[in-house]
Amino acid sequence: MARVYNFSAGPAVLPEEVLKEAAEEMLDYKGTGMSVMEMSHRSKAFDNIIKEAEADIRELMNIPDNYKVLFLQGGASQQFAAVPMNLMKNKKAAYIITGQWAKKAYQEAQKFGEAVAVASSADKTFSYIPDCSDLDIPEDADYVYICENNTIYGTKYKELPDTKGKTLVADVSSCFLSEPVDVTKYGVIYGGVQKNIGPAGVVIAIIREDLITDDVLEGTPTMLKWKTQADADSLYNTPPCYGIYICGKVFKWIKKMGGLEAMKAHNEKKAKILYDFLDQSKLFKGTVEPKDRSLMNVPFVTGNEELDKKFVAEAKAAGFENLKGHRTVGGMRASIYNAMPIEGVEKLVEFMKKFEAENA
Ligand SMILES: *Cc1c(COP(=O)(O)O)cnc(C)c1O
Repeated sequence: MARVYNFSAGPAVLPEEVLKEAAEEMLDYKGTGMSVMEMSHRSKAFDNIIKEAEADIRELMNIPDNYKVLFLQGGASQQFAAVPMNLMKNKKAAYIITGQWAKKAYQEAQKFGEAVAVASSADKTFSYIPDCSDLDIPEDADYVYICENNTIYGTKYKELPDTKGKTLVADVSSCFLSEPVDVTKYGVIYGGVQKNIGPAGVVIAIIREDLITDDVLEGTPTMLKWKTQADADSLYNTPPCYGIYICGKVFKWIKKMGGLEAMKAHNEKKAKILYDFLDQSKLFKGTVEPKDRSLMNVPFVTGNEELDKKFVAEAKAAGFENLKGHRTVGGMRASIYNAMPIEGVEKLVEFMKKFEAENA
C-alpha cells in the first residue's frame, strides 16, 4: 500500500488511523452485523454515533450550552443562502470580501436583501485581510459575514472584525478545528467538513440559540430553516450518516492528539517549515501578505508559468499530489490541514530545494 502526500485543498487528507479504523468496522460496526452505511438513522447505534460526535466537538471547541450544533447537508455553499434566509430580519447585512467564497456568499445574499460590501481585498488579488477595526457597518445590518480562512488565496483573519455589536457569521470550512476558538464571539460558525474534518457531504453549523427562530424570510424551504434542523436534533430527514460517523472519529483523533491547542502547535510548526523556506528561496515565493498568512493553505509561485507546471508534474511523480493552485489563480498551493504529518511538509521542502537547485 502506497499512500501519497496529499496536499489537496478539499476533499483532503484524513488521519490514516481514522481510515484504518473505519475499514476495520466496514462490514460489522461494533457487533451490529452491518456497516454504518447500512443502518437506520433512527437506530440506537447511530443515535450513539451522532450524540458522541456532538459531545466531542462541544468539548473540543468549548461550545457553550446556548449554542446548537447542527449536522447538515448541501455543502458550505448551501449556507450562503441559508444564512440570509434565517437572519435577514431587516433585509440588510454587511459582507467582507476576502476571496471567492466570501464573494459567492455575498452574491447569494443579494437575492434575499441588501448585502453591503463593507471591506474588500479584491484590489490586490485577495492577498491580504483588510483592516476591519473600524468598518462602516449599517446601523440596521442583521449580521456581519466573513470567510475566516480563504482556502484559495491562503489568507486568514488573525483578529476578528469589530462588528460594532452585530452578529458575526463565519464560514470556517478550511480552518475548522485547526486552532482554539472563542465561540462566544460568533453568532454562527459553519463549515463544510471536507477540508479539515471528514468526507464531503456534511456541514457543521454552530448557532447561538436566539438566532434559531421561526422568523425567517418568507418562502424559506423547510430544510433550510435552522429551526427545523435544531428541533429535530439534525434528524429531520436522513442525515449524512456515514460522514457524521467519520467526523466523530476525527474528533476523537484530535482529542487524542491533545485537542485544539495541540493542533495549533502542530499546524504552526508545519506552516513555519514551509513559509521559512519560501522566505529565503530564490525560486519560489509566497503570494500572501506575511501577517495574514493561513496555517492551512499556502499558495506560492515561481513567477514563471512553465516552471510552475514543471514543478507540479515533477512533484506528482515524486509522490506529492494536488499541488496545483486553484484554477482561477494558477501557481501552486499546498494545503496542510490537521491530518498532514510534519514529514509531509519536510519532504515537500526537501523536494522544493532540489527542484530549485536543478532549475536555478
Ligand atoms: C470549499 C469551501 C466552500 C465550498 O464548500 P462546498 O461544501 O463545496 O459548498 C465554501 N467556503 C470555503 C471557505 C471553502 O473552503
